[in-house]
Amino acid sequence: MSRPVLKIGAAALRAAARPVEAVTAEVQALVDEMVAAMYAERGIGLAAPQIGVGLRVFVVDLSSGREAGALRVCINPEWGERDGMQLEEEGCLSLPGFSATVARPARAVVHALDREGARHTVDGTGLMARALQHEMDHLEGTLYVDRLRGLSRSMILNRIKKLDRDGKW
Ligand SMILES: [Zn+2]
Repeated sequence: MSRPVLKIGAAALRAAARPVEAVTAEVQALVDEMVAAMYAERGIGLAAPQIGVGLRVFVVDLSSGREAGALRVCINPEWGERDGMQLEEEGCLSLPGFSATVARPARAVVHALDREGARHTVDGTGLMARALQHEMDHLEGTLYVDRLRGLSRSMILNRIKKLDRDGKW
């Protein structure tokens, strides 16, 4: 079973996800499906709502599968410290073909359960901090375009509307 990555406009992307009650075989299968979907799209992160599952689960792999041990699985993640600020270009598998400069923390710490249900901490700077904030946002129904100023946001949304009208979205 493989679910497609949803694009902006899908209601599931806009709902807050609920906590996982227990890391069961079913949840592990969800994680595996998410990792496969992320690698298939050459992404560096994916949250469960992006495949239509309203659970607090995300995966991040800055190497997109090229480096062993780079995968981070976060189930029921909670914020630790966040500090500083970075401005870098960012994209999202739910808005394919678009990117924009987004303000994010320079460092972010997330406490979560891993695929085996063990507690772990991801302490990220730079791109990892950005990815953690981006995926945590997905669990609240927030997309990076929501964090843009009016003009860059409406430019992207108008182009998507046009693609949608033309049947290309
Ligand atoms: Zn995203």
